[in-house]
Formats: sequence, structure tokens, C-alpha cells
Amino acid sequence: MDTLERIASERVAALARVHDLSREFLRGLDERPVGAVAPFEDLVGALGGPLPERGTEPVVIVEQLAAAVEPGLMASAGPRYFGFVIGGSLPAALAADWLTSAWDQNAGLAATSPAANAVEAVVAEWLKDLAGLPRDADVGFVTGCQMANFTGLVAARHSVLARAGWDVEEDGLQGAPAVNVLIGEEAHATILSALRMLGFGTRRAIRVAADAQGRMRTDALKAALATLRGPTIVCAQAGNVNTGAFDPLDEIAALTRSHGAWLHVDGAFGLWAAAAPSRRHLVRGLQDADSWATDAHKWLNVPYDSGIAFVRERGLMVQALHKSAAYLVRMGGARDGADYTPDASRRARGFALWAGLRSLGKDGVAELVERCCALATRLADRLRQGGARLLNEVVLNQVLVRFEPRGGGDGDALTRAVTARIQREGVCWASGTRWRGQEALRLSVSNWSTRERDVDRSADAILAALRAEEAGR
Ligand SMILES: *Cc1c(COP(=O)(O)O)cnc(C)c1O
Repeated sequence: MDTLERIASERVAALARVHDLSREFLRGLDERPVGAVAPFEDLVGALGGPLPERGTEPVVIVEQLAAAVEPGLMASAGPRYFGFVIGGSLPAALAADWLTSAWDQNAGLAATSPAANAVEAVVAEWLKDLAGLPRDADVGFVTGCQMANFTGLVAARHSVLARAGWDVEEDGLQGAPAVNVLIGEEAHATILSALRMLGFGTRRAIRVAADAQGRMRTDALKAALATLRGPTIVCAQAGNVNTGAFDPLDEIAALTRSHGAWLHVDGAFGLWAAAAPSRRHLVRGLQDADSWATDAHKWLNVPYDSGIAFVRERGLMVQALHKSAAYLVRMGGARDGADYTPDASRRARGFALWAGLRSLGKDGVAELVERCCALATRLADRLRQGGARLLNEVVLNQVLVRFEPRGGGDGDALTRAVTARIQREGVCWASGTRWRGQEALRLSVSNWSTRERDVDRSADAILAALRAEEAGR
């Protein structure tokens, strides 16, 4: 065999092995410990050492890789992972993601992949339809909601400064009119980092007070806006990362609009309430914003990484993000994905989205959202009945609880201890947070494969951990 033939046959062997390894992993997902079991140093040790001088065959490499990382994998694709807001991968989306890797398309330009850009054009329309966003909005496919927030705010910065007669792309921010940026007290950390990257800084952002569930208070927003002149951007939130609460978008949109300001909505997971009839009221007014950011790798259950930015006014994203060079050839009439994202070369995320959404259909997306919300309510009820203190109104898929010693005492310490024990025991996985000055355990039900029995088993495990800590075991 010559070298190319050998490589081709090794490739076939490696992919076949990966197929088996993936099947084994997915089959075991339901029963493996949900948390990783190996200490970090052991993983580095198993993977590490100097890069060998000589290469190894692909099939051996994938076996070594799978064996070395196995004890460090989280079962976050599985049904009893409730950490952060994660979500798994729908079978169709996962399968399409494999193809995406095999196809190895660069989604940056239609010239680099007509297929990747065509699928984005189609998926963009589906997503706007599902979320009830304006039909004309532009859509960019990015790595996650961090970059979706950044991208939406790049368009916002462009627009509010252009209206003030300033070309921020050409002239930058030095000497530009000051831009007022208002954010809720409970804005997500990625809004803050977006403001840093945009050159607005976080110290200058005006923090608008929030209520006990973390919703922006519109009286406070109104008062703050009344004192401001000039270019202004308001960042609201659909789905607080702890409580799941929604800022009152209809009132915020009305205030923002009457002030002539730009409204950006961070809807990393909450945006999808719009797709579910029983939750749609939570996002009333959503469609009146100017830009939106969301994730598909969270609640839409496509593989990492997949975030989406939308901008109402057609053309603004292109004006703010357009890249040109003689070699970046354009195919007239086709979508060039790079015009809608900060990236140039880019993974073809649209394929997995297309497949995931097609496998669910509109009804299936609504059902996924409704089911996770119903399961979150079930989980909250069980935990409360078992002695946990529920800290949030469970309006969506987030549950926030805390454990307090029966005879009085240190609830923070008990909550931390129960959280650590659950993570160690591995029946389910969730992590801690601080809410309004107190330790809490936060649980997010975001996975397509979670069923009632997973929630019940997890609630039992959490309550057993509480009993064990109470008994000092
Ligand atoms: C997760 C999340 C983000 C950040 O999304 P990434 O996909 O991690 O970049 C932003 N905002 C909210 C409300 C989130 O929940």
C-alpha cells in the first residue's frame, strides 16, 4: 500500500471504532456517575508527557483518547445532569454534527461552502418563526450566547452611534459621543464581558434595580432613562440564569422605544419560551426589541457550540461586521455567513440545527420546552416536600433551593455540604450559586432525554444527601 491508501484505510478503521466508542458511551450515559470521577491531575497524567517523536495510527489514537478521558467526562448529555444550563444533543443533531465534521466545511462564505450557507439561510427563517421574531431580522450563527450578546451589541453600537453622526467602525470609540448602556442588576456575566470587549467598560454601565426574582424594575428603568440624553442601549434579559425569571419585556420595550434607545435581549435559554404556548406570555414584547441573543446548545439540544444573534434592522449586521479583501470572493445573491458574525472561518453549525429542528418539528420544540418546565415544577415540589426551601418562582426550567438546619443554624454550610455530596455521589449533578446573599443549589432541566423517573430519582438522591448531612454522616 502506498501512503495515501494506508491513510484512507486507517481513516475508515478510526471512524468505525469511533462509531462503536460513541455507542458505548451513549448507552452507558443513563447509568454512569453523572459527575467526573478522576482528579484533574490524573487526567493530565493519562493524556500527558511530551509529544512523542513518532506518530501513532488513528485507530489506536482514538482508543487511547477515549480511555484516557473516560473518567473525566461529565454525563452532561444525559438525563440527570442539571448543572448550569446545558442540554444534551438530539439524536438527529448529533448525527448531523458527525457529518459536519466529516464534511469539514468552512461556513464563512458561500464561496467556501454553498451548502453551509444555504442551510443557515433556511434555519434562520425557522428560528425567527419559532421565537416569533420579525421576519426581516438578520441572523448570525456564533459559538454561544456570549458571542451572540457581543454580536447583537456590535450592531447596537454601530446603530446608536451612526444616528449620532459617528462612524464607529472607521473612527473607533476615542472621541465618539458617549453611549449610555443600561443593564439589569441581574444581567448575565457575558453581557458584562461583551461590554468590556466593545470598549464600553462595565463600570460605566448603569445598573437598573431588579426585584426579588431578578426581573428588571421598570420604574427604575424609567427613572434612569429620564436622566439620560444621547445614544443609549438597554440590555434586558429573558430567563435569569438562577431563577429563570423574565424581565418585563413589553414595558421595557415601550420605555426604550419612546426614549429612542436600542433594546437588546439576552435570551440564552428563555427565548424558547416563545415557542411554547403555555410559556409564551413570559416573553410578551420580545418581538419589539432591536437585537436578540440565544443559544441552541442549551435548550434546543444541539451539540456544542451553537449560539445565535438576531438583529431587527436588515443590513446593520453587515455594516458592522462586513469583512473585505480582494481574495474573499463573493458569490452574488448568496449568503456569506461571515457578514453576520465576528468570525471569518467558522464551523458549519447550521447542519446540526437543521437536523435537530427538523427532527422535532414546531410541535416538538414546544413539547420539549413544556416538558422541561413541567419536570422542573415536579422537581421543585418534591424537594420542597422533602424539606428544601424553594427560593424561586418556578416559571420556567430553573429550580433554586436551599437547605436550612431544622433547629436553626448555618444554612449556607448545609447547602454547600449537600451540593458537594450530590456531586460526589453521582446520581445527578447540579451546582451551587449565591442568590440574594445566600448559598443555593441551582437545577436546570434542559435535556431532551430527562423523564419523570429521572427527576424523581434525582430528588430522592438530593433529599437522601440532605438527611445524611443532617445526621452528620
Ligand atoms: C448561558 C448564558 C449565556 C452565555 O451563553 P454561552 O452559550 O455560555 O456563551 C448568556 N446569558 C444567559 C442568560 C445564559 O444563561
